[in-house]
Amino acid sequence: MSDIIIVGAGCAGLTAAIYAARAGKTVTILENEGIGGQISTSPRVENYPGIKSISGIEFSDRLFDQASDLGVELQLARAEGIEKNDNGFTVKTEYGDLTARAVILATGCRHRHLGLPEEDRFAGKGVSYCAVCDGAFYKSKTVAVAGGGNAALQNALMLAEICEKVYLIHRRDTYRAEDQLVGQINAVSNIEPVLNATVSRLNGSDKLESVTVNQNGSEKEIAMDCLFVSIGQQADNAAFADLVTLDENGYIVAGEDCKTSCEGVFAAGDCRTKVIRQLTTAAADGAVAALAACLF
Ligand code: NAP
Repeated sequence: MSDIIIVGAGCAGLTAAIYAARAGKTVTILENEGIGGQISTSPRVENYPGIKSISGIEFSDRLFDQASDLGVELQLARAEGIEKNDNGFTVKTEYGDLTARAVILATGCRHRHLGLPEEDRFAGKGVSYCAVCDGAFYKSKTVAVAGGGNAALQNALMLAEICEKVYLIHRRDTYRAEDQLVGQINAVSNIEPVLNATVSRLNGSDKLESVTVNQNGSEKEIAMDCLFVSIGQQADNAAFADLVTLDENGYIVAGEDCKTSCEGVFAAGDCRTKVIRQLTTAAADGAVAALAACLF
């Protein structure tokens, strides 16, 4: 039995592991994909305090090294369900059951993808899912944002301050965003809305050079340096729906104290209900959840 099992080895989970291990607890961390989570796929991170510039993969490696040196045990397995019992919790995985006194869920979330054939190949080479993280790399360049929600419009406004030109490609003729944001979009001269339009093809050799857009049934090509895909995010917490309360989008309901509806289970990082999903907020949650779990 570990003192604490952490589900997810992204920034929130690994930060929680570091804090819990430094508090003298035995920690097992479960991960079923890559170490580091979402940030490991980011080409450069330049908004983490104290680190001017680092690749996402190096950042993830450093976090993992730090946790490993403190004795945190990693198991490559997917948590398929969690049961509460008299002694604590049983976490079910495909390789067997693990037990702990407390659990921290740090399962993250994924940016929704457009689902285009070349999308994965261009990720980090002209296709980005985070304008806050990558926008500065396209200073004075031409970019596009795909999406019509609050995030897409906010990203377009932010990019318009850095980039020469921003296309806003949305599949309908009305946005899903707040009126105030729509008003701001219409008032910015270097944002060009491309409405009733879907991205049908990504073009380029080593990096993205243009996208083909299908607008009202006819195709046109738009040259650009980067396409920022802002079509929402998806959580993956269905396996824990019997244990903790999820909101209508599948995020774990928990406040800034990271406490869930189940005593002894904490939620940290992008997987919980929150407004800002960034590396720094994930790290902050990891610390809060770990200290709360230690106290529990
Ligand atoms: P969202 O509100 O779900 O909007 C997603 C947008 O992407 C929609 O315009 C949708 O089009 C489009 N879309 C979805 N799938 C697509 C596909 N396969 N191809 C093309 N377009 C697609 O997501 P979000 O903007 O990321 O926001 C997430 C949540 O955070 C929302 O509740 C939002 O209000 C909130 N948020 C709030 C603020 C704020 O300042 N208040 C800022 C950011 C986010 P349709 O419109 O046609 O469905």
